[in-house]
Amino acid sequence: MTPQPSPQTGAAVKAADRAHVFHSWSAQDLIDPLAVAGAEGSYFWDFDGKRYLDFTSGLVFTNIGYQHPKVVAAIQEQAARMTTFAPAFAVEARSEAARLIAERTPGDLDKIFFTNGGADAVEHALRMARLHTGRPKVLSAYRSYHGGTQQAINLTGDPRRWASDSGTAGVVHFWGPFPYRSRFYAGTEEEECARALEHLETTLAFEGPATVAAIVLETIPGTAGIMVPPAGYLRGVREICDKYGIVFVLDEVMAGFGRTGEWFAADLFDVVPDLMTFAKGVNSGYVPLGGVAISAEIAATFGKRPYPGGLTYSGHPLACAAAVATINAMAEEGIVENAKRLGADVVGPALRELAGRHPSVGEVRGVGMFWALELVRDRATREPLVPYNATGDDNRAMAAFAAEAKAHGLWPFVNMNRTHVVPPLNVTEAELKEGFAALDAALSVADTFTV
Ligand code: PLP
Repeated sequence: MTPQPSPQTGAAVKAADRAHVFHSWSAQDLIDPLAVAGAEGSYFWDFDGKRYLDFTSGLVFTNIGYQHPKVVAAIQEQAARMTTFAPAFAVEARSEAARLIAERTPGDLDKIFFTNGGADAVEHALRMARLHTGRPKVLSAYRSYHGGTQQAINLTGDPRRWASDSGTAGVVHFWGPFPYRSRFYAGTEEEECARALEHLETTLAFEGPATVAAIVLETIPGTAGIMVPPAGYLRGVREICDKYGIVFVLDEVMAGFGRTGEWFAADLFDVVPDLMTFAKGVNSGYVPLGGVAISAEIAATFGKRPYPGGLTYSGHPLACAAAVATINAMAEEGIVENAKRLGADVVGPALRELAGRHPSVGEVRGVGMFWALELVRDRATREPLVPYNATGDDNRAMAAFAAEAKAHGLWPFVNMNRTHVVPPLNVTEAELKEGFAALDAALSVADTFTV
């Protein structure tokens, strides 16, 4: 249902934005944000009445699509009853959200500390790990994103870290597995797995394992490229953590809450971390919410000793009510199962079929509703379609790809030389097919930049 176009309102929204809104990660004078009039399900539209199929789920958070009626109603109901309340009290929406999350988290991750989003969840996970172990350092992977706050950005392995890297944050980076662009000269997944684990253990040996509080990994790295780890890698990391008394933190801010076709990506690999961060899909981002799921052992560290951290809005009732409604809707409507089924039966085959016809596609990888196309200039050498962290003219191939997708009514997720297919988990097969037709056209443009 797209309402009447209203270009004048659109122009006013845009003018006020340009005058007063300071946008994330942007050179303020060089951006041109689309004025959005509304959204529903897997679509949003502008004030001129142009509709886009959203293959990005916002920033990979609208796992149940826009304006899900059950969640909107739950927010309205909670707002009428108890919009907010301080975190020191027991509040129904907060208790129930924690119970529903703990019921789904793997292993004994049964205590939930609520935050306002993903980055602060990561901050608190690190603080818990350092206090629990009494050790200063943390290890994280290159090709990762963990958030925009001070510790989280230091953990991050992508170029967004560079401008804010304090160098003294106690973070050491290592290489995770990525068979398509192996750092380990591996020819098979098994070799990549074994060599990546050996590399991690050697890094630890040179850092001094007794100085390391935590190893932090995205279960499946998201923005950095949806690199599904080889079977056995995460279990291997778990063993290394156990061997040296290191806390294993899995960051499921993007991969959690159904994105991979399981409630948590950890379930795909049969691995249980000590701490797990979440945000985004927990309530589809309808109200900001994140958190840390905590193991029994780490929770016990703070049984008699206070946990020295907190937030005014920890477990905000409105956000928690949205989480309760989201989780219940996902369960009632089989939304996680939908992601798993469509991922295996529709998305994977369709993307592989596109790869067969488009020389710009170097690799297709993913699971559930979490897919990446690695675009290349040359399939033989795997040279990326644009250089790492390219801007301006160097990035024109990806810019042309994105513009063509948008012209065909598809809003694509683009990061460096990749496009990710990450629509809402309750997208329909017909919507996916519409998206693949637009992707087909956009890839034809990308093909013109190949050698
Ligand atoms: N961790 C991961 C894996 C993410 O993908 C993100 C955001 O994209 C974050 C942490 C940071 O979350 P937020 O932007 O809610 O602070």
